[in-house]
Amino acid sequence: MLKLDLETDVLIVGAGPSGISVAINLGKRNIPCILVDQKSKKDIGYKPCGDALSPNSTRKLFELCGIPQPKGEEIAENLESAHFRPVLDFELNIPFISQTIDRLKYGQRLLNSLVDFPWIKVKTKHKVVDTIIKNNEIVGCKVRKEDGKIINIFAKIVVDCSGVTGIVRRNILPNVCNKLLTKIPNTEIIVSYREIIETPAPHKYQKQMRIEYHKEMPPPGYFWIFSKGEKLLNIGVGWLLNETNKKHNTRKILEELRDKFFPDAKVIDAAGDTLTGRLPLYSMVANGFITCGDAAALVNPISGEGHGPALLSGYYAAEIVELAIRNQQTDENALWDYNVKIWNNYGYDGGLGIAVHKLLNAVPFSDFSYLFEKEIISQEDVDSIMDSTAVKLPIFQKVVKGRRKPGLLIKVAKGILFAERIKKLSQKYPKHPKDFDKWVKKIKRIERKKL
Ligand SMILES: Cc1cc2nc3c(=O)[nH]c(=O)nc-3n(C[C@H](O)[C@H](O)[C@H](O)COP(=O)(O)OP(=O)(O)OC[C@H]3O[C@@H](n4cnc5c(N)ncnc54)[C@H](O)[C@@H]3O)c2cc1C
Repeated sequence: MLKLDLETDVLIVGAGPSGISVAINLGKRNIPCILVDQKSKKDIGYKPCGDALSPNSTRKLFELCGIPQPKGEEIAENLESAHFRPVLDFELNIPFISQTIDRLKYGQRLLNSLVDFPWIKVKTKHKVVDTIIKNNEIVGCKVRKEDGKIINIFAKIVVDCSGVTGIVRRNILPNVCNKLLTKIPNTEIIVSYREIIETPAPHKYQKQMRIEYHKEMPPPGYFWIFSKGEKLLNIGVGWLLNETNKKHNTRKILEELRDKFFPDAKVIDAAGDTLTGRLPLYSMVANGFITCGDAAALVNPISGEGHGPALLSGYYAAEIVELAIRNQQTDENALWDYNVKIWNNYGYDGGLGIAVHKLLNAVPFSDFSYLFEKEIISQEDVDSIMDSTAVKLPIFQKVVKGRRKPGLLIKVAKGILFAERIKKLSQKYPKHPKDFDKWVKKIKRIERKKL
């Protein structure tokens, strides 16, 4: 170790929701950690985002570990209804309640709560630039400090919570761990841009969250409008970065949509970022390594909801990391149960999301109104599909109603079957790394299927 180098039990990279959740939960377990983030302290929590955070996630977090739910000024609006409009003349209600929150205020509160745990050291303006690996084990990171000096921070376990880039993960080569996906391909990345706008008079979307499709966007992109107050809205666009979509500029298209629907609005904040649009990483652990939140691809590919999964995955990671540190067993085997937990919890959401992406790519938007007009899919069906405990196959009972478009019906049925298969495989995530390859083969075979 050099003079400036540091050593700790757990190095947490990134102080977004997942990293802070890991830090708080390891703090409660008396495990010494260093939490680093490239941002300055006052900016921790800020992130270009739709700002929707489901109270179901934060309630679960509270029940698991006592982190209080967003409160007071941290909540912008309690949203009362959610609407999906795939075509102009049709709208679907989605059984989903949420809140829009002030991410900076909520993030700062979580960060400040770390003062209760003096054994958690927070180092802001510290940027991780590389991963240190020794004998196939991740043993720390190279970190650039504000003055430009590079130091090593060594740890028994490194937790990658650095968001989509996965700065620690991406430097772990396949010869160290071939179960980790080092770089997420562009075709599984969603590019996105959002603005917070103020309307001169109360807007017409009070307490609503809406996801709409408009012809200005490449299909199957989406335009969201989330209420943040009587005259405040969070609006944004996003789409998968595939070959056809990559020429479209998210900022330009959002500005066009804003000029069209909110011509008099004042822009208060505008920024873009990326999120993942895929299933969770097949494995999220290696020797001395674990990853959470966006770095583990835990964003719901339909709703873009990743804040709740980030907070909760941080809790699940801390549970396993504590055991590993106490048992002095920090290899892949010791951390494996985290994979099981995450896939059991989030595999279905990912599968359903990918099914919807496939369907939107395979079916013209105009066919959606047909599906609902003919009641091939009813509101009740949507409710049951969204409820991960009850995937039904309503399509097969509705063949007569949909007989004019049998091809469409087959695609929808295949989409639902796809989600159902992923769900089953998620529940059968291998209990031991030796069975991993067989399981991945099965899941990839399903993923490759076209609708
Ligand atoms: C435009 C947009 C809209 C979204 N809308 C919603 C929404 O409405 N609802 C929802 O639930 N989710 C939404 N999401 C997703 C949500 O923002 C993320 O899922 C969530 O922030 C993930 O938390 P995280 O802690 O994993 O990563 P992040 O929040 O990305 O935090 C990562 C942290 O790591 C730090 N970091 C990165 N690299 C380094 C490095 N090299 N060294 C040190 N520190 C580093 C960053 O500074 C950051 O603080 C949206 C995302 C985008 C981009």
